[in-house]
Amino acid sequence: MSEQGASPRELEAENESLRARMAYLLEQAERNHDIMCRHQAFDLEIVGAATFPELIDTIFRTLPAISDLDIATLCLVDPDADIHGVMVKLGVDFDDFPQLVFVASDSAFGFVPSRRALLTAPSKPLLGPYVPTLHQAMFPQPPAGLQSIALVPLLRNKRIIGSLNLGSVNASRFTPALGTDFIEHMASIIAICLENVISNEMLKYIGLTDSLTGVYNRRYIDRRLLEEIGRARRQAYRISCMYIDIDHFKAVNDNFGHPGGDEVLREVASRIKAELRLSDALGRFGGEEFVVLLIDADLESATIVAQRIRASIDGAPFELSSGERLPVSVSIGVATLDDFERDHAIEGVAQQLVAQADNALYQAKENGRNRVVSFDE
Ligand code: GH3
Ligand code: MG
Ligand code: MG
Repeated sequence: MSEQGASPRELEAENESLRARMAYLLEQAERNHDIMCRHQAFDLEIVGAATFPELIDTIFRTLPAISDLDIATLCLVDPDADIHGVMVKLGVDFDDFPQLVFVASDSAFGFVPSRRALLTAPSKPLLGPYVPTLHQAMFPQPPAGLQSIALVPLLRNKRIIGSLNLGSVNASRFTPALGTDFIEHMASIIAICLENVISNEMLKYIGLTDSLTGVYNRRYIDRRLLEEIGRARRQAYRISCMYIDIDHFKAVNDNFGHPGGDEVLREVASRIKAELRLSDALGRFGGEEFVVLLIDADLESATIVAQRIRASIDGAPFELSSGERLPVSVSIGVATLDDFERDHAIEGVAQQLVAQADNALYQAKENGRNRVVSFDE
């Protein structure tokens, strides 16, 4: 007699269990595939972000949705507040990003391992329960019932540039047992993108500012003037231009040396700036000459601002770091754009406006310096 095989009933049961197992594996595979696709879409989106605010906005908008999180925040290491300062100057409004935190040092994160471990295996993510006393700084506005978190180091060249912080109200979402491949991959892409946009923004900033005084440079003012003239024409408001030149500046350099002259330039820039609105633009045009664009200001109000600037510089002597004090004054020419004829090329109109302010400045020098002259035709 041949050996008895499995009974049809047994075979059927085995078949059913195999089918169930297949279905389970298939479901897992589909889920993983789905997660992978969402992560790939996320990667593409953040790689495409051209500016710092665009990148931060994309991360905060997309990440919680694709990873099913209740909160995602970012900490950036910024020891001298350089990144923060430059972004503010480029117009980034940090009130838009309450989930972005700047920290002075990477020791704030708690994942700095021993020096040796750092060289061999860079810091790993920390996963576990949310403990407000330890983690509050990384979650400035935690959602109600935040239970578990993942703090993922953002590394570039073995240096911690920040941390990506993920949180869930589900206590079992982030536990030390969870695999971290996906989140580490995500953090590495985010770190590259952050480093890239930050250096682009820094370059942009350097290209548009005067390194001595920190105000804009001529290139920026020239470009901005064209934009502003276009906008002023469309929206029919006035823009005015001031040309400011320090009086007898050669004598400052002769008496206090070039470094003393540089200090005076910085202080003049800062006194001018203190009299301006946020929408106005101040640039150093070279040497000891500054140009201000006043947005939505007619000749009369621009002249009042110019008088304030003149009085502020003339009003109190400048104190140099050497302790020496000296009086400084400026002459200012003011002109207003009153050419709203659309058939005139913007470039020509811009040149004319600056030339008129320069012309008025020349008059101010001729009339004895330390004064404001408004251009009238
Ligand atoms: P005026 O009242 O007619 O304007 O007299 P002034 O001496 O200011 O005239 P001028 O424009 O001829 O002199 C500008 C001087 O500014 C010449 C140069 O030595 C100095 N200068 C230009 N760039 C810089 C700079 O970056 N730093 C310093 N310290 N001096 C500069
Ligand atoms: Mg000059
Ligand atoms: Mg001068």
